Amino acid sequence: MRKSFLKTLERVSTYDFVTHAKKIKNKTFSDTDKTIVDDIVFLLKSTNLDERFLLYKKAAQIRDTQCGKRMVLRGLLEISSYCNNSCYYCGLNRKNQKAQRYKLSAQQILDCTDTIWQAGIKTVVMQSGEDAMPAQELASIIKEIKSRYDMAITLSVGERSQKDYECWKNAGADRYLLRIESSDPALYARLHADRTVQTRIRCLDNLQELGYQTGSGFMVGVPGQTLNHIAKDIIFIAGRNFDMVGIGPFIPHPQTPFKDAKTGDITLTMNAEAIIRLTNKNAWLPATTAVGSLEKDYRVDVLKAGANVIMPNFSPTNVRKKYAIYPGKKCIQESIENYKTEMNDIADKAGLFLDYSKADSLKEAYYKKI
Ligand code: SAH
Repeated sequence: MRKSFLKTLERVSTYDFVTHAKKIKNKTFSDTDKTIVDDIVFLLKSTNLDERFLLYKKAAQIRDTQCGKRMVLRGLLEISSYCNNSCYYCGLNRKNQKAQRYKLSAQQILDCTDTIWQAGIKTVVMQSGEDAMPAQELASIIKEIKSRYDMAITLSVGERSQKDYECWKNAGADRYLLRIESSDPALYARLHADRTVQTRIRCLDNLQELGYQTGSGFMVGVPGQTLNHIAKDIIFIAGRNFDMVGIGPFIPHPQTPFKDAKTGDITLTMNAEAIIRLTNKNAWLPATTAVGSLEKDYRVDVLKAGANVIMPNFSPTNVRKKYAIYPGKKCIQESIENYKTEMNDIADKAGLFLDYSKADSLKEAYYKKI
């Protein structure tokens, strides 16, 4: 184990990232504030088993005391694979002629939501490509779900106007997931055509101001990303006090410009996950589908490194393979019938209790607002 490992672990766990973010904003940032980047890079680099054991143990302890020793469930519904964007990493990009496009009808979405409810899960996460769905259309679906069930609604449909976010919030949406992908303007530009990180940040600002429980995150191992980029993304995320943070390894898709790039490293992903727990103590952190889709299913390992959410897929079986953001998505084989056994098994192996509650944000600020 490296000599300064324990001290670095302690420094990162006790650092005040919200004040750090304010210093950046007010331009009172000093050179001493920069050392936190080096500290995070130092932890990210851990490959030694003893170091990793301590890192994950500390992350799991923080999770247990701040969030409870539980694993919560969110039902995922992939509502449309149409997309007007051309993100270089994503299989749904509009330039992919081979992509199979579908859009679920309102009735299909309501039927799947009912399946989620019957399965005992009290959150539906509706995700899609950037398909320009009229805001009113989604608002009606949100209202209908809210009138039928005591359920939380999470949206993950990309960059939209403040007006659209407001329309969905007023219709009853509770939460929104929008990954920053990269907080570095140059790297962001290398990953996306015709898109800027400023717009992403504007969207995240709008969502937080509107009172959405907001989630963000990034991929580990996208082409061009260094450990410094990851450290800065972790700092960006901790500074914004998100309610949820999701990360996962980059997986190359054959119909994208990044088809020949390497898959993101799982050790690095687990280290990043644990550091995110140290720096976002009471946020909900999913063990994402991407970590379950590598050569082996690493979701239990990621839960042991500080995560506490699983998002089983409830999209209709015939569309699941069409929502191919990356190849080999774990859920394609997952059956709805077997999901309870599988979820129990995952929680058991991770040493957590399975929690079927709505599991709203644990952030004080959120409760103050409502
Ligand atoms: N259109 C929505 C949903 C995108 S899919 C949006 O833009 O927010 C959800 C997440 O999957 C993305 O934010 C991205 O981080 C991740 N993703 C996309 N392509 C991927 C790939 N090839 N490997 C791993 N994760 C990927």
